[in-house]
Amino acid sequence: MAAGKPTMIDAADIAIAQQLRDKALHDDTAFDFTEGLTTEVGARLAGGPNDSKAREWVIAKFKALGFDKVWSEPVTYPKWVRRGEHAEIVTPVSQPLTLLALGHSPGTPAGGISAEIIAFDSFDALKAADAAGIRGKIVYVGARMQAYKDGHDYGVGSTVRTRGPSLASQKGAAAFLLRSAGTDTNRLPHTGVTRFADGVAPIPAAALSSPDADQIERLLKRGAVTIKLALDCGIEGEFTGANVIAELRGSKTPDEYFLMGGHLDSWDPGTGAIDDASGIGISVGAAHLIAQLPKRPARSIRVVAFANEEAGLYGGIAMAEANAKSISKAVLGSESDEGADRIWKITASVKPEARAAIGQIADVLKPLGIEYDPTAKASGGSDLSAIHAVGMAAISLEQDATRYFDWHHTANDTLDKIDPEQLRQNVAAYAVTAYLAAQAHGNFGSKPGEWAADGH
Ligand code: ZN
Ligand code: ZN
Repeated sequence: MAAGKPTMIDAADIAIAQQLRDKALHDDTAFDFTEGLTTEVGARLAGGPNDSKAREWVIAKFKALGFDKVWSEPVTYPKWVRRGEHAEIVTPVSQPLTLLALGHSPGTPAGGISAEIIAFDSFDALKAADAAGIRGKIVYVGARMQAYKDGHDYGVGSTVRTRGPSLASQKGAAAFLLRSAGTDTNRLPHTGVTRFADGVAPIPAAALSSPDADQIERLLKRGAVTIKLALDCGIEGEFTGANVIAELRGSKTPDEYFLMGGHLDSWDPGTGAIDDASGIGISVGAAHLIAQLPKRPARSIRVVAFANEEAGLYGGIAMAEANAKSISKAVLGSESDEGADRIWKITASVKPEARAAIGQIADVLKPLGIEYDPTAKASGGSDLSAIHAVGMAAISLEQDATRYFDWHHTANDTLDKIDPEQLRQNVAAYAVTAYLAAQAHGNFGSKPGEWAADGH
């Protein structure tokens, strides 16, 4: 590999970044944003009545916060509607169940579905099962998630949720239930999207709360269990929403930009505070501090409120497609979508000549209790992973996810879960990263097609 000129950051800019960091620890712009969005708009199901209301709210807020430019880019996606769900154990006992339909699930026929349960303890066990035993039954998968700082067990739960119903349908199941992809023992189910592979008939699919899943498992140890399931939901055509973008215009090379943000949509049972109002709030708080400097940074800084991340990264994919050819202008990016607890680690996917500059950023972040792993790759976070895949260099600022999956996609995703002090630490880290990336001499390796084989 031919070594190019190393990307470097001036000492004077490091000093400004240190001041931004320290100032962020006393600034509540991010909390105020999060409080406002979750209170004045609330839940923001993509395609629902609050989709456009949230967009109007965020456009007005971006303008009020003094960004140089605010605009929207349309994004079209399926409109999924939830009207309600009901389920109960019919035999051997009578017991109501607490569950939530999965996003993109069809409803059940009038009168619901009554069928026997067939249980599996993992996605792989379902995969290995013979279709003969599954036909006409309700498949239940009871995989359990443990809480980890890096949240890696979500891979287990989200695989069951996103791919389980499609697989069960291929084997002739009438419907699909899972133990919620979560780490709590509240009687609150975790919703989330599912996907049916091309050519597979969609079947009704829902998530049970953890105690309800336990109850079914105990009954199954005693014999056959029959359930009645009624879901009133489904896809009803398409909806056109939009990504909303706010920019601090660069003073030297304004066409180049650092990209950060979160997704504006949320699931419907809570108010989408940790997923992901706080993600946008963190970026807004960071940009707002940078906006108060006497001079704009050399490059532009863009904050994006992405449309419909939850049902399949629609906003991120639209932005990736629109910017694929000019992706070298997006010098570096990071999206916050793992709650609002303390950032504990950064990782990056950048060109080798930019590693030293990432190290300079990491040095400014160190007093915040953030470590740097120079060997790990980064996707930049949910929507940005789609933009990274078309060539944007990425940095991931990883939140401590230990508590995140207790509340994620449940009625418990509400403002009280946000610790203002930890939120300020997030803002400090984002302000440092955004400012230094916008001021760095040299780029971070953004180039069409560059990171396609990164595996994120
Ligand atoms: Zn999210
Ligand atoms: Zn989510």
